[in-house]
Amino acid sequence: MARPEEIMTADLKQKARRAYAQLKATHADAHIELVFANPLELLVATILSAQCTDVRVNAVTADLFKKYRAPRDYLNVEATELEEDIRSTGFFRNKAKSIRGAMTAIEKDHGGELPRTLEELVKLPGVGRKTANVILGNVFDTPGLVVDTHVSRLSQRIGLTAKTDAVKIEFDLMELIPQQEWTQFSHVLIFHGRRICKARKPACAQCPITARCDFFAAAE
Ligand code: SF4
Repeated sequence: MARPEEIMTADLKQKARRAYAQLKATHADAHIELVFANPLELLVATILSAQCTDVRVNAVTADLFKKYRAPRDYLNVEATELEEDIRSTGFFRNKAKSIRGAMTAIEKDHGGELPRTLEELVKLPGVGRKTANVILGNVFDTPGLVVDTHVSRLSQRIGLTAKTDAVKIEFDLMELIPQQEWTQFSHVLIFHGRRICKARKPACAQCPITARCDFFAAAE
């Protein structure tokens, strides 16, 4: 006979998968909005996207990627030059430091190519699990569950996790969502967070999963 915690997990899995199916149908166009042509460009764009909109990042990288094509290009200029080139994305000193740190490690330890595993990617300076999962899922065809501010907020509101730490949320979601769906699940939740379940005021009247959402049930 199934233990109570097994029944709870099975119920939560069913809720997660049904909610995801409905959101996936609503946001059938969900995809990564950063513009990039290769893994290295996605790494840089993802670092730049911290605390910045994808629209702003894309505006900056349109010129940036013409100037910086290989890891050594980021290292052959003064740090201040790179800082100026990315200034409008905000936090530009830290971002330039992360980019140059990652490029140094890519040159030194990986022959100028971006590594392809989570374990190696998170060892690059300035690259955490979120950035690594963006890269794995979008250029290396390896499922990656990206827990950004939208995925954190929505997972908590819907009731898929009670955690607040991004890594713990990622592990909770990994139990609930089939691995082959991790990348798309992240895109769908990010789209839902941007369009409907906004941080300040969720537009629940437009949401297809009110019947499955703890936040909505509590507000009723
Ligand atoms: S019902 Fe409201 S709070 Fe729940 S996921 Fe939908 S928009 Fe967000």
